[in-house]
Amino acid sequence: MPDDRRPSRFSVDLFPAARGWIRDAACVGEDPELFFPLIERESEPQVARARAVCHRCRVLLACRRWAVEQGEDVGIWGATTAAQRRAIRRKLFGGPAGQATGKTVRTRRE
Ligand code: SF4
Repeated sequence: MPDDRRPSRFSVDLFPAARGWIRDAACVGEDPELFFPLIERESEPQVARARAVCHRCRVLLACRRWAVEQGEDVGIWGATTAAQRRAIRRKLFGGPAGQATGKTVRTRRE
């Protein structure tokens, strides 16, 4: 039986590492397309709308960490664009920034 609370952009089957936090995502019920703007520039209104949802999300840090670790290179995750996540990966791990690192990202709040 499908879980109506599960955001349609997420699937625990596809993202098993997100199992611990995915059900608390604020993007439950939001249009998944909102989080995949054609242009991921800070100044784009769609990016701002997606990030506004993320900023009221209880699992923002877990989501961001997951997206960085997974090398998610498309879409808004944890209020970050793909370019921002690449910069985080470069800063934390060096080397190619567009790929999953397999390394764990630690945040101050976790
Ligand atoms: S931080 Fe944003 S993308 Fe991540 S679960 Fe929360 S609302 Fe969804």
